Amino acid sequence: MAGLNLKGINKIYPNGYHAVKDVSFEIEDKEFIVLVGPSGCGKSTTLRMIAGLEEISDGQLYIGDKVVNDVHPKDRDIAMVFQNYALYPHMSVYENMAFGLKLRKYPKADIDKRVNNAARILGIEELLPRKPKQLSGGQRQRVALGRAIVREPKVFLMDEPLSNLDAKLRVQMRAELSKLHKELQTTFVYVTHDQTEAMTMGSRIVVMKDGVVQQIDNPQTIYEHP
Ligand code: ADP
Ligand code: ADP
Repeated sequence: MAGLNLKGINKIYPNGYHAVKDVSFEIEDKEFIVLVGPSGCGKSTTLRMIAGLEEISDGQLYIGDKVVNDVHPKDRDIAMVFQNYALYPHMSVYENMAFGLKLRKYPKADIDKRVNNAARILGIEELLPRKPKQLSGGQRQRVALGRAIVREPKVFLMDEPLSNLDAKLRVQMRAELSKLHKELQTTFVYVTHDQTEAMTMGSRIVVMKDGVVQQIDNPQTIYEHP
């Protein structure tokens, strides 16, 4: 069970800025939920608190039935995909995907199986020997996804993962991510400021503004009652 529950979550940054205000919503196990809203409304902050990369100032975050406010990111069974791909330039695609598992001392055969399986799912098997600089933007984004997939987390967090891609590729990758969600059967939490992206990808959409949740609904209802 990897549903999430945010109960009265607040973020006050050390400089006093109240970026996220009493945010409460549930994310069902295996759901594809999208957080949307203008730049600066608190989407990334919310996602980073779920990942454990940012401290929660007030409120409770549940994964399953457990409060995880004080649980280390490593122990949350969550992986995050960033918009800047953060691939290691001197390593091959294979090594990039294997690196996190190596650090965690996974057996070599297990690493090999996981990397090859992720590469198959993403259709990047032939890219495994290449270096990041020999890849297109879309291919790099797939490798970044691959690095998260090999960890087999219950929850994927994505912060504007397509925003560095050109318009055509973005549309293609939207469809690929939807397919990936079906194939992996895990929970996706997806942040974007792009309304079209939100409407076409999520089964539910959380609309944020100025640090608060304004609306939570399915795309159809939000389209009809914005
Ligand atoms: P979004 O992802 O919706 O663009 P963010 O969550 O990144 O928004 O930021 C929400 C607000 O918090 C913005 O006004 C931003 O400037 C502010 N903010 C983000 N990080 C910090 C920080 N480390 N210290 C102070 N304010 C921050
Ligand atoms: P990677 O697995 O990306 O190569 P590391 O294994 O060096 O990175 O992890 C560094 C720290 O960042 C660890 O505390 C780990 O839990 C955290 N971390 C690594 N990758 C992610 C991710 N995708 N999402 C959330 N936290 C992560």
